[in-house]
Amino acid sequence: MTISGSIEETRKQVKEWKAQGLRVGLVPTMGYLHEGHQSLINRARKENDKVVVSIFVNPMQFGPNEDLESYPRDLDRDAKICEQEGADWIFHPEVEEMYGPDFSGYVDMNTLPEKLCGASRPVHFRGVQTVVSKLFHIIPADRAYFGQKDAQQLAIIRRMVLDLNFDIEIIGCPIIREEDGLAKSSRNIYLTDEERKQAVILNQSLEEAMKAIDAGEKDAAKIKNMIVKKINTAPLAKIDYVEVVSFNNIQPIEKIEGEVLIALAVYFGSARLLDNRIIL
Ligand code: AMP
Repeated sequence: MTISGSIEETRKQVKEWKAQGLRVGLVPTMGYLHEGHQSLINRARKENDKVVVSIFVNPMQFGPNEDLESYPRDLDRDAKICEQEGADWIFHPEVEEMYGPDFSGYVDMNTLPEKLCGASRPVHFRGVQTVVSKLFHIIPADRAYFGQKDAQQLAIIRRMVLDLNFDIEIIGCPIIREEDGLAKSSRNIYLTDEERKQAVILNQSLEEAMKAIDAGEKDAAKIKNMIVKKINTAPLAKIDYVEVVSFNNIQPIEKIEGEVLIALAVYFGSARLLDNRIIL
């Protein structure tokens, strides 16, 4: 497995693989890898001949008061995990390699980035779209793997690939959870013991909502209220949002029908945790 910080070297290698007729899978990450990332690498391994993992904490997707500086980083540990999962190449550029001195471009879209996480993180999805576009140009892979944990991100990337004609297949992968149901996240390390205990409420509230939907509830507002009420029983939880939207365009809906995303973001101390259910 090679670790490279160079755009030129990485692009050359991937182009060589493609010229040999090999299928290439890309797994974009910000590092500090856990079983969620591992499941993406593993799937990419099964479906492709070569696997590239990018590890880059992208400054452009962090707002001014967010955790860019403190975001956890551990390349040695990440490299071991990638090797263990059978990755062939880690692309790990410095910020200066990705954003040169006069960098001024960006990629953005209307509508999908406005609600949910975009409401409290206004520059976030512009940063995500820009860096993912750059990665797709640097690494001309056949497939790219994204987790459903970041459901809005997945919807935006899918839309971006369709709208801008990127020649790549986007694969959405299921959420990997801790034993008690908390979605795995690099940010879980910010939680105190008590916050960690209470954070199980997120998955539990979604579980309850799904039961109600399975039993025939179609009213989106009722589902939302049910989730909010449940989360508010955890004293340390501070809700950023709970929303029931169409998974296609991330706009609010009144009735549970078609492709539905039930998404939430909740603060426990400084950690902002995400979870969701997608009904297809
Ligand atoms: P990040 O390093 O947080 O930017 O995440 C990199 C990729 O891993 C994204 O596509 C995430 O959606 C995905 N991911 C993160 N956590 C999980 C999880 N618990 N289960 C599945 N995928 C995940």
